[in-house]
Amino acid sequence: MDCIFCKIIKGEIPAAKIYEDNNFLAFLDISPVNKGHTLVVPKEHYENLMETPDELVRDLWVVVKKVALAVKKTVKADGLNFCANNGQAAGQIIFHTHIHVIPRFTSDHFKNWPNQKYNNGEIEKVAEEIGKKLKN
Ligand code: AMP
Ligand code: ZN
Repeated sequence: MDCIFCKIIKGEIPAAKIYEDNNFLAFLDISPVNKGHTLVVPKEHYENLMETPDELVRDLWVVVKKVALAVKKTVKADGLNFCANNGQAAGQIIFHTHIHVIPRFTSDHFKNWPNQKYNNGEIEKVAEEIGKKLKN
């Protein structure tokens, strides 16, 4: 399979690895938002988080937390962003499940997202529609 992260997992291309166990690998992002920016990936290939089995998703977040604590301590971050881009429209460029662990500093002044407003009564409608999809 022509997947860069699978190649990193198999050791076919180099990466700055920081953590590995039977199911997961964590390595530094080559184009970091801030130094210490880490990617945590399951070793098994799934296109993105939505395609990944629940059990693996649960375990993935436990590894994310463990790795994040070490990243935060090491780079003395003031905070962290955890980010999973799902789909091209959401900015996903590597189609192998991964969570970004991004160290943040009070002094970086990054703004993550632009904000929008709901029209009158719209927020309730959107919540109801999503809620319906979660009932069965
Ligand atoms: P995305 O799919 O948008 O969540 O982002 C994929 C991330 O993978 C980007 O932040 C890239 O900088 C990073 N990346 C791509 N290739 C490599 C690589 N060979 N080693 C480490 N990070 C990489
Ligand atoms: Zn892969």
